[in-house]
Amino acid sequence: MTAATEFNLINKYFSYSTNRNDVVLGVGDDCALLNPPAGKQLAVTVDTLVCGVHFPENTSPEDVAYKSLAVSLSDLAAMGAEPAWATLALTLPNSSEAWLEEFSMSFKKTLHDYGVQLVGGDTTQGPLSITVQLTGFVDAKKTMRRDAAKVGDKIYVTGYLGDAALGLNLLNVFELPDPTIRYASVKKLNRPLAHVGFAQKAVEYCACAIDISDGLIADLGHILKASACGAKIYFDQLPRSKAFHKCAVYLNDLDYKKMLLAGGDDYELCLVIPADNEEALLLLAESMDVLLTHIGVIDNSGELSVINTSGESIELNLSGYEHFAHE
Ligand code: ADP
Ligand code: MG
Repeated sequence: MTAATEFNLINKYFSYSTNRNDVVLGVGDDCALLNPPAGKQLAVTVDTLVCGVHFPENTSPEDVAYKSLAVSLSDLAAMGAEPAWATLALTLPNSSEAWLEEFSMSFKKTLHDYGVQLVGGDTTQGPLSITVQLTGFVDAKKTMRRDAAKVGDKIYVTGYLGDAALGLNLLNVFELPDPTIRYASVKKLNRPLAHVGFAQKAVEYCACAIDISDGLIADLGHILKASACGAKIYFDQLPRSKAFHKCAVYLNDLDYKKMLLAGGDDYELCLVIPADNEEALLLLAESMDVLLTHIGVIDNSGELSVINTSGESIELNLSGYEHFAHE
């Protein structure tokens, strides 16, 4: 795309009014100039969504914009950070104004909803891809890290598991006769909720968390590896939405278990907390209307086992989605 086209697009779609007083200089110069708050650490994350890989080609521009922010907001939430600044690297196949109009409106609204300012970016031509980098603030003594799980800690998750994977399957692989299942699960796929507000308060009680982007088994696995411990997961306690309950009658057992245990894209939080803090965390979740479910315990087994109500291990050869697995 020509320099003039690029300049016009940035001006028209990505120069939003300033809404934070810690932004000295935003979009328009060679760099943004930002004032970090005294005494805080910066939490920085970046994620790329590639069309056809991270979202189906016919996903609406509104949903693409929302999700490109939600996945990075979810990373900040997983550390207990307060979101502040964004940069956006956008690669577009053409300069379709209709697409940009919708994308930009949704991007701007989502930024506003989370109090984040867009401070810079890059605009290039090529296959559709959206990279969002977010910076947030944490109190140095209150972060949630993957390496902080201890034997005996309890494992909790927010929300429901498996819905986004169900939604993706309903778009790409199979059909189910009940349209309410499709509606709810595709909505979870396209519009995952980042638990940003809850996480900033949960840091009072929780030092170890991860967001579930690649499936519970894969992501909890990262905690176990970083913390050098094992875990037991109680399969029957895994939280399932109404839609997910309904899909069970149509699916074979393995597909069902795979979606629940290894389905990606839910962006729920997995929190590991000392037993002494359980009550306080549950009260916090209830006061903020966040569903929080006890799903397991950290142990010293060195492995992750999933057990049924009679304590038998459920053997599954599962892992999260791996981007290069098919190459
Ligand atoms: P440079 O050539 O110095 O990198 P660019 O022409 O790429 O500058 O960008 C000009 C300004 O517009 C910079 O401040 C940059 O951060 C901003 N910018 C470019 N693309 C975007 C975008 N998609 N969203 C937000 N800001 C952008
Ligand atoms: Mg540039």
